[in-house]
Amino acid sequence: MNAHRHEAEGVEASPRLLGPAEIRDLAELLEVTPTKKLGQNFVHDANTVRRIVQTAGVRAGETVLEIGPGFGSLTLGLLEVGASVIAIEIDKRLAAQLPHTAGIMQPGKPLTVVTQDALRVTELPGEPVRLVANLPYNISVPVLLHLLEHFDSLQSGIVMVQSEVGHRLAAGPGSKVYGAPSVKAAWYGHWRTAGQVSRMVFWPVPNVDSVLVGFERADVPGTESERVATFALVDAAFQQRRKMLRQSLSSVLGGTSATATAVLEAAGVDPQERGEQLTVADFLRIARAAAAQS
Ligand code: SAM
Repeated sequence: MNAHRHEAEGVEASPRLLGPAEIRDLAELLEVTPTKKLGQNFVHDANTVRRIVQTAGVRAGETVLEIGPGFGSLTLGLLEVGASVIAIEIDKRLAAQLPHTAGIMQPGKPLTVVTQDALRVTELPGEPVRLVANLPYNISVPVLLHLLEHFDSLQSGIVMVQSEVGHRLAAGPGSKVYGAPSVKAAWYGHWRTAGQVSRMVFWPVPNVDSVLVGFERADVPGTESERVATFALVDAAFQQRRKMLRQSLSSVLGGTSATATAVLEAAGVDPQERGEQLTVADFLRIARAAAAQS
């Protein structure tokens, strides 16, 4: 934000994105000490920001949802390419400053800041078609599932998450990292990893690696009550992922291994399989077979 410092260094006189100097100035101004609790690792590298925006395929004029804008590193990158941004930030100091930062660095660009917990948001001031975010890592999966459940307008997205989580989200059946988040994410569409991000682009430097993950929404395969039943099966199967389905699902399918076997057979699923071999469509078939028998 300090234009004089930049002039003195011979860098752009009025930068449009945030670098280390601007992040430092803003942190000082707001007296912000990043907290782990809120997953506050701020990106201070313009090239990374432009790469994320480009990978997301953001188009001028479209409405983009950003979760956790922080000081605005990514927000400014989205505004730079002409997106209209809705940004949800839980930290009041950061949320209050963001319109001022955007007003100075990307004047006149369309930005709406919502000061709220993204996990609790059920209404938005617009219909975003794309999600682009550097997510708070401790809640990245619940936030993604919450947004996909509540906002049908979201058709695609690119998010930065902890590397393990990203690979899990994009994993298919049979993979070692395939788990409950993979199956639940697949309910909403297709997922892929879209490149690593160096730890060095963050302040403070995190002690985990990061990856970009992309999704394209597909039609959901079942109704809302079927989704709830399917997700309960997924949770049960992966709570005891080494056990056969007839055991891991017994508590949610009638109480015994025999009742579970009957439902699994009716669904055309081998009771001796493990959850890690099943697709979301397989879990849905089990949920439907269970509903038909009750
Ligand atoms: N987008 C910024 C960047 O790339 O520099 C900041 C990313 S930082 C990893 C995560 C941000 O999410 C922080 O600004 C933090 O305050 C915010 N945050 C944490 N939990 C949140 C929640 N439940 N709802 C909304 N924002 C949250």
